[in-house]
Amino acid sequence: MSNSPLGTGAALLSARRPFLIGIDLGGTKIAGALLSGAGEVLAEARTPTPAGADAIVTAVVGLAQSLRATIRADHAAADVDAIGIGSAGVVDIATGAILDATEAIPGWRGTALAERVTAATGRPVRVINDVHAHALGEQRALDIPSAHSTLLVAVGTGIGGSFLVGGVPLLGAHSVGGHIGHVPTPAAAGIRCSCGALGHAEGSGSGTGITANYVAAGGEALDGPAIVARASAGEQRARDAVERSARTVGELVGGLVNTLDPHNVILSGGVPDIGALWWDGFERAARAELLPRTRGVDLLLGRSAAAACRGAASLWDERLWAELLAQVDTPPHRPLS
Ligand SMILES: [Zn+2]
Repeated sequence: MSNSPLGTGAALLSARRPFLIGIDLGGTKIAGALLSGAGEVLAEARTPTPAGADAIVTAVVGLAQSLRATIRADHAAADVDAIGIGSAGVVDIATGAILDATEAIPGWRGTALAERVTAATGRPVRVINDVHAHALGEQRALDIPSAHSTLLVAVGTGIGGSFLVGGVPLLGAHSVGGHIGHVPTPAAAGIRCSCGALGHAEGSGSGTGITANYVAAGGEALDGPAIVARASAGEQRARDAVERSARTVGELVGGLVNTLDPHNVILSGGVPDIGALWWDGFERAARAELLPRTRGVDLLLGRSAAAACRGAASLWDERLWAELLAQVDTPPHRPLS
């Protein structure tokens, strides 16, 4: 664990809770941050995501307790007030349980995450999908006015999204809102998605998609970074695999911008971080899809490494939380018979 300087773009998280923990729980790593109620990052920690739901819960609790130990060392009488978690999967925010999860985290479905972390730490816990948490954090980090609508597209191991209206993520009727990796996309045709379908954007556009594209073109099953290294060295098949990912995400984002007409579009995650090798093809493909009045939209690269942790902690902003709960209280939240 390393202490970090005060974060930039700090925005008030909670006036009533001086110390919060925000946790970003993904398929490959779990990151945590200790934040002040004013939004300053006081300490950060991370650990690889272990296999199995029990081991993941144990790792989350361990991370939270290590961050709590930091605060006790610096502020003798202080303790963490509350914990916010952004988790991969479909989250029931009313209970903090995982309703559904893909094979990115085997066994995660059905985990009573908030209940179990509260039992182990004695602290209240709120949970939301990790990409919604990421969008909440980026909006704060980039100082985007909450009146502006924001589409965040996270492209890493998978592809996720979040659409914020008035600073509040759209959860949808079944808490599935934002799962934009599962939009059929022309450039992904013929590639199998993590959900089992053919031709969804995640299958070709994500980090694992870069591998799928490379294999589909006759290459070896190398991981994304190894293929990017080959592409940078000039190997044409590797360049094509990266280009296909870029084109897939570009088509996806272009279509979504036409649908939602957001004020801001933020791309984040390991794949956009590849740089010009990916971004140029992405932006070309996205802009090729845009309707005339949306053509001036800014395509921004996310900036805050701690964004998802900050966004998870922001669940303790009571106004935000009330608006989120109001969405899941609205029928139909259950399958129609
Ligand atoms: Zn899919």
